[in-house]
Amino acid sequence: MPFNDIAGNGRVRTILKLALSRGRVPHALVFGGPRGVGKRKTARVLAQALNCAVRSDDACGECPSCRAVVQVDEKAKRIGAHPDVIEYEIPEDKTTVSIDQMRELKSLAYLKPMVGRKRVFLVDDADSMSDEAANSLLKVLEEPPLFTHIILISDNPALLLPTIKSRCRSLPFLPVSDEDVEKVLRGRGVEPEKARLTALVVRGNLERALDLDWDAIEAERRDAWMIFRALTTGEDAAALLRRFAFGRRKDVREEMERALELMTAFGRDTALLAEGGDARLLLNPDYENEIRTCAGPVSPAAALRIVGLLHDAAASIDRNVHLGLLAAGLTARWRQAAVSM
Ligand SMILES: [Zn+2]
Repeated sequence: MPFNDIAGNGRVRTILKLALSRGRVPHALVFGGPRGVGKRKTARVLAQALNCAVRSDDACGECPSCRAVVQVDEKAKRIGAHPDVIEYEIPEDKTTVSIDQMRELKSLAYLKPMVGRKRVFLVDDADSMSDEAANSLLKVLEEPPLFTHIILISDNPALLLPTIKSRCRSLPFLPVSDEDVEKVLRGRGVEPEKARLTALVVRGNLERALDLDWDAIEAERRDAWMIFRALTTGEDAAALLRRFAFGRRKDVREEMERALELMTAFGRDTALLAEGGDARLLLNPDYENEIRTCAGPVSPAAALRIVGLLHDAAASIDRNVHLGLLAAGLTARWRQAAVSM
C-alpha cells in the first residue's frame, strides 16, 4: 500500500517519503499519538517501502516483498511473513512487551537482511515495556547497523524513557480529521449522514470508525441523548455520575470523551431550536422532535452555556482527571445553567 492510501497525518507521510527519496530514513523512530490514527499501518508501509522491489521512495504494495510484509499468517494469527520485517506486540498472556522479545530484537538487529535491503522492527505498545527491557535496547538504538530500522509505536509516547526518546527521531501522529474519516467511510459506500455521525463519535480514531457498526453508534448517541435530556430537564440529576463515575478507568475515560462530544452536538441542536433556527442545520436531525420537547423550557442562552460547559469538560479530560469529580462538577453547573435565564 503506498503512503497516499493512508488517511490523515499527511505531514508524517511527507516527511517519510522525503527521507526515503533521499535514502535518509532514521534508524530509530518513535511513532507516537492517539489510538487508531494509523501509526502501525504507516510503520508497515515504511517497512514495505524500505524493501520494495519496484520503488525506492514509496511502497508499490504489489511486489512479493510488499505483499509479504502485510500477509496474514493464519497459523501464527499475526500479520507479516517477510523474514526481514518483524513486528513485536504485547503477547496475549502478558500486559507488556517482554524483555525476551527485546533481547531477540537486539540479536536479530545485527544480522544482515536475509532477502530484503533492510531489517525493520516494529514494536507496538512500546511504552508498556519495563525499564529493564527498554534499557536492553539502548545500545542498538544508539548505534544501529546501517541495514536496520527500529520503529517504536506508542499511544502514550510521554511514557517512554527519556533515554529511549533521546536516541530516536519522534514523529507525532494526530487524530484523523472528521473530514478525512467521513471521506474514507463514504469511499466504502457508507451513506453521507451515517459517515458524518460516525466521524463525530470516533473523534479522529479512524480504526474505530472502520470497526464500528451502525447499531453501536446509534446506541452511543441514544446513551448520550438520555443523559443530556435527564440533566437539562432535571428529571435525573445522577445520570452522568451513574454512567461515568465507575468502571475501568481507561475505557470509561474514552467513553466519556465520546459522550461529551455527542452531548455537545445535542447541545448545539437544542440552542438552534430554542432560537427558532432552521431545522435543516441540525446535527442530529433524527432527534428533532425529542430535542424540541426538551428545548421547550430552555432559553437559547442557557443552551449555549451548556454547550460551553461540555466543551470545558471535554478539554479537561486527560489521563489524571478524576472522572467522578468531573461528572459531579459538570452536573452541578449544568443544572445551574439550565434553570437560569
Ligand atoms: Zn513493492
